Formats: sequence, structure tokens, C-alpha cells
Amino acid sequence: MIVEQIWTANAYRNFNYLIACRETGEALAIDPLDHEKCLATAKAKGWTITQILNTHEHRDHTGGNAQVVAATGAKVLAHANARDKIPGMDRGLRAGEAIRIGRTVELECLDTPGHTMSHICLRAHGDRPALFCGDTLFNAGAGNCHNGGHPSELYDTFAGQLAKLPDETLIYPGHDYIANNLGFTLDREPDNAKARAMLPAMKQQDAARALVTTLALEKEINTFFRLTSPSVIKRLREAFPDLSDNPDQKTVFLKLRELRNKW
Ligand SMILES: [Zn+2]
Ligand SMILES: [Zn+2]
Repeated sequence: MIVEQIWTANAYRNFNYLIACRETGEALAIDPLDHEKCLATAKAKGWTITQILNTHEHRDHTGGNAQVVAATGAKVLAHANARDKIPGMDRGLRAGEAIRIGRTVELECLDTPGHTMSHICLRAHGDRPALFCGDTLFNAGAGNCHNGGHPSELYDTFAGQLAKLPDETLIYPGHDYIANNLGFTLDREPDNAKARAMLPAMKQQDAARALVTTLALEKEINTFFRLTSPSVIKRLREAFPDLSDNPDQKTVFLKLRELRNKW
């Protein structure tokens, strides 16, 4: 499996992706908003885009579909329940379904509600597991729930699915928000040495050559995976004095999500 992360350099800081089969050159484009860059990259690599996958229905993820379809005839794949929200969908996906690219790549569809209720992540197995996670999981952060989502489902997705993936899983999110998100981590957990050490470099990083994190690293620097950290809980109780000194993980997650909305 070949992964090409494409930095759009737009105001929303989107990442687009091409995933290609080494043998056939067939490629799947994830959320190809910057259709010109995606098409140009495929051409330069000698790849043919045969499928488009939208992680969810938001316009900053689907806005390049029509141009890529016009140029390549690619099929559009998305969550089965996104059919009335994404024009021209060819295949509706459900949890556990396989997406094949050429002869050598097979991805698994995860049904990951929370940011929206028809959001999917793609999981690659194989020698280097990977997760293409749209706006569900960001580097050092979590998606918001303002536009069709629900924090409670987002927690269930994090705790029930994402946290259980192998630690070495490579994380490929839909936006570059790492510097800002590390700031929130440090606001919530000032003694997080790893986040503090990473922040200066991440503030300066060229997103065209972005750091690709692993789930193991996310568990160190992402507040939304640090729900039992004593300093996270201590700081949270300063903001929410009614919180018990031993809150359950879902409560911690929901309070963090609430604070992040205003941070
Ligand atoms: Zn979104
Ligand atoms: Zn987005």
C-alpha cells in the first residue's frame, strides 16, 4: 500500500490522501477537496484514481468529488446513511465492509459516528497498520460535534473502537490542527512533558511534510485519550467543581469536549 498525504494549504487546513496499489497503480482518493492537486499527484505518479472515498458529508471533504469524477470516472464511496447528503454516491458502506484497491490493497470500513452520524474511518491492516480518520480523530485532538454530530457517540467511537487499535497504527487525519491541539492538551494537562516538548517543532512544521503520528503517541499527547490522567481530572475539577474526584471516563471526555468548544 502506498499512501500519499496531500496538503491543500487552504484555510481549513485539509489533508487529502491517495492510496495506491503498488502493482496496478489503481488509487483511491480520500476526501479530494483539492481536486487539482489530487489529479496532478496521481498523474505524476502514474496512478489512476478509480474510487473516491468521503469520510463524511461535510463540504470541505466532498467539494472536489465532481471534478475528480469528471476527470477519471471514479466511483464515489461513503457511509450508507450519507446517501441523501452526498450527490452521486455509487456505494454505501457499512461497518466491516472491505474496500479493495487494485490487487494488493484492502481497507476495512469502520462506522465511527460522533463528528457526524454518517462518518467512516478506514483501517488498513498489513505489516504497518494505518487509520484514515477524517474529522473523528485529529493529531492531539478530536472532531467537534457542531454540524450534525453528538459528543456521546464520539466518546463511544473513541473508547469502543479507536483506543483498541494497535499502538503502532499510523494516524492520517482530515486536517492539520496539531499545533493548536497541543496547546489545548497543555491547557488541560500542564505537566504533559511530551506535548510540551513537541509544541515548538509542531508550530513550525511544514504541513506538506507533516509528522505522521501513531496511536501510541496519540495516547501520550491527545487529551481525549487521557481520561484517567490525575492532572487532567484535577484541572477539570477546577472548571467543574461539582465533578467527583473519580469521574468515569465518559464524563471526563464530554467535559473536555465541552471545554474545547470554547477554548
Ligand atoms: Zn467535518
Ligand atoms: Zn473537515
